[in-house]
Amino acid sequence: MENDLLTRYAEITQKNKREIVLLRGSGCKWRRCTFCDYHLDFSPDADSNYILNSCVLSQVTGKYGKLEVINSGSFVDLDAKTYRLILDICVQKQIKEVHFESHWMHREAVSALREAFATHGIQVRVKIGVETFDNRYREEVLCKGIDETLPQRIAAYFDEVCLLFGLDGQDRTSMQHDIETGLSYFDRVCINIMTENTTKVKPNRAVIDTFLTELYPLYSSNERVDILLENTDFGVG
Ligand code: SF4
Repeated sequence: MENDLLTRYAEITQKNKREIVLLRGSGCKWRRCTFCDYHLDFSPDADSNYILNSCVLSQVTGKYGKLEVINSGSFVDLDAKTYRLILDICVQKQIKEVHFESHWMHREAVSALREAFATHGIQVRVKIGVETFDNRYREEVLCKGIDETLPQRIAAYFDEVCLLFGLDGQDRTSMQHDIETGLSYFDRVCINIMTENTTKVKPNRAVIDTFLTELYPLYSSNERVDILLENTDFGVG
C-alpha cells in the first residue's frame, strides 16, 4: 500500500534519546492480531521499499548514537538492501545501539541479527509486542500468536516488550501486573494505549481513565518505561 502521508523520521528527546525511523517492508507475516491495522503499511515491491527507506534513512544523523527501526511488522520483513543500508549508516554515523521489532514467530532469526551488527561493535535490542502476560486473554482475545506462557522464556529472545492497555476486561491490577512483569524480565517496557482504528477492537474509556489516574503517575518518570497515549507519540506514523 502506498502511503506517503506517514511521518517516517523523528527524534525521541525524552527518555532513552534516539532517532526513530518508520520503514516499509514486505508486510507482517502474522497479520492476525485482532486490534491491529498498521500492518497495512507494506509493499511486496522490494525495490520501491528500498527507495522509500533509503530516503527516510538519509535523515539519520547519529546524534544520539541510538537508532530505533520500526516497520509495521518484523525486521525480517525488510528487504536485503534496506537491511544493508541500516548497517552501513550505523557504522558511518557511529550509532552504537539499534532497536528493531519482531513477532514471536521470527525469534530464531534474532541471534543472527545480533551477530551481524555485533561484528561492527553495534548492539541490537529487539522489541516484541506481547500486549499482556495474561496468556488466555492474549491468545483468545488478541490473537497474538505467542505459544509461550512464561515471560522469562519470551525474554530469552527479546530485550524490550510492548504492552497494550485500554481494552475491555483490563483493570488496575491486571495492568500493573503486566508492567511489573515486563520490568522484571525485560530491559524496557513500552505501553501503548488503545486508540480507535479500523478494527472491531475498541478502546475502553473507563480502563484508559483508570490507567491515567492510577498508573500513569507511578510510571511516567520511570526511565525504563515509554508510554504512548497516541500511537504517533514517538513522532512517526
Ligand atoms: S504482529 Fe504486529 S504488525 Fe503483525 S498483526 Fe500483530 S500487531 Fe500487527
